[in-house]
Amino acid sequence: MRIVVIGAGLAGVTTAWFLQARGHQVCLVDRQPIAANETSFANGGLLHASHAEPWNAPGVLGQLLRWIGREDSPLLLRPRALPGLMRWGLGFLRYSRPRHYRLGMQRNAALALHSIAILRQLRRELGLKYDDKQNGILKIFRDQQTLDGAVENSATMAEVGLRHNVLDTRQAVALEPALADSAHELSGAIYFPDDESGDAHLFCRELIEHFRQAGGELRLQTTVSGLLRKGDRIEAVETDSGPLTADCFVLSAGSYSSRLAATAGLRLPIYPVKGYSLTADLPDWSGAPAIPLIDDGNKVVMGMLGSRLRMAGTAEFNGYDLSLSEARSAYVLRQCLKTFPSLEDRLDLARTIPWCGLRPMTMDGPPILGSSPLRGLYLNCGAGHLGWTLACGSGQLVADLISGQEPTIAAEGYSLARFQAQL
Ligand SMILES: Cc1cc2nc3c(=O)[nH]c(=O)nc-3n(C[C@H](O)[C@H](O)[C@H](O)COP(=O)(O)OP(=O)(O)OC[C@H]3O[C@@H](n4cnc5c(N)ncnc54)[C@H](O)[C@@H]3O)c2cc1C
Repeated sequence: MRIVVIGAGLAGVTTAWFLQARGHQVCLVDRQPIAANETSFANGGLLHASHAEPWNAPGVLGQLLRWIGREDSPLLLRPRALPGLMRWGLGFLRYSRPRHYRLGMQRNAALALHSIAILRQLRRELGLKYDDKQNGILKIFRDQQTLDGAVENSATMAEVGLRHNVLDTRQAVALEPALADSAHELSGAIYFPDDESGDAHLFCRELIEHFRQAGGELRLQTTVSGLLRKGDRIEAVETDSGPLTADCFVLSAGSYSSRLAATAGLRLPIYPVKGYSLTADLPDWSGAPAIPLIDDGNKVVMGMLGSRLRMAGTAEFNGYDLSLSEARSAYVLRQCLKTFPSLEDRLDLARTIPWCGLRPMTMDGPPILGSSPLRGLYLNCGAGHLGWTLACGSGQLVADLISGQEPTIAAEGYSLARFQAQL
């Protein structure tokens, strides 16, 4: 089949690769001059099955209301975003009931573990290098209540295979000596040995090279303006360089997937949730952490990608706004300095690169993978805060469904049909 994949971020690049590997003729289209230049450009770099909890934990409404308009909060809801957020926001709150939250967490964790296993295989087969590390991930906690909640969540995810060890502070410092300076502020930690880390942008670039060598076509600087529908079938997509026809299409345009789907009358429950990262090159930092860290309560992650420290986090509900707020970057940096106080003297702020991106977030947490009500249109979008973690598993699953092969993981929990009552 000839297949057009729309969007060359983590979702699109992996889908294109697995489709190509299954013998299809694939054209990967993106509006940017290089691939993985939007949300997949400078994310936290963590492959964290351990972080599979959807962001609408029970009680999220109280948190959002408490932090409304506050620049120094991990979750920020800007009042001007409210009108565009109503429908998605109500669904987000509805899915925060304990039963849905638990289901979303287990679906994410199962796909994440599967996805990391596929990534390992791909890395071995193709010799991919992307500043990758296989040191696990350590979650740190600054109060007992947050730690207790995370221990409970880890037990829920253990039911689908997630391994973890709960550590006291002394054990955490023994595992990661870089925590020594801030140990007195910690209540404990959880270590997840199967998690990994690496630069998502480098990964996409490497995989695209293999895709092209295998005969795949990459069309950059090509903006898709709409899906062209005839009856219940998508027959082509309109681009700024003319229509593109194919036997089928995969929509993997990140947060913009819902806008493109709407051009064919299809509603996707995806909202852009903005996050920030900072990257500092620290080649001589002898105290650098070997294990990537997640400060769970403050929603900040930090880890080394080669000689670079990547710090990332925060969630902001403010539509498609991509302006860089100094206050939000400063929040991420401050949380990181709490963990590594000695970094303050070493960090050259003028050379620390701030970035922000829009996480494509579904109402219930897991991504939307597979067919759509429109014939010829498949979906791989909405991985939210887990797009790097879930990329290889999602790409392979969608390629299997398109190719008529039995996926290696049950697909129903990720289909658009699960929202039937909401849309
Ligand atoms: C601060 C931050 C930290 C994060 N940290 C992590 C982490 O540690 N681990 C993790 O697993 N995930 C993390 N994520 C989430 C992860 O980065 C995203 O889920 C992932 O990048 C989404 O990939 P995507 O391919 O769906 O979207 P994108 O990367 O946004 O790709 C979509 C592509 O579609 C293209 N496109 C859009 N519209 C059009 C159009 N009309 N025509 C043509 N092309 C179009 C865009 O140019 C883009 O290249 C983080 C996100 C943020 C913001």
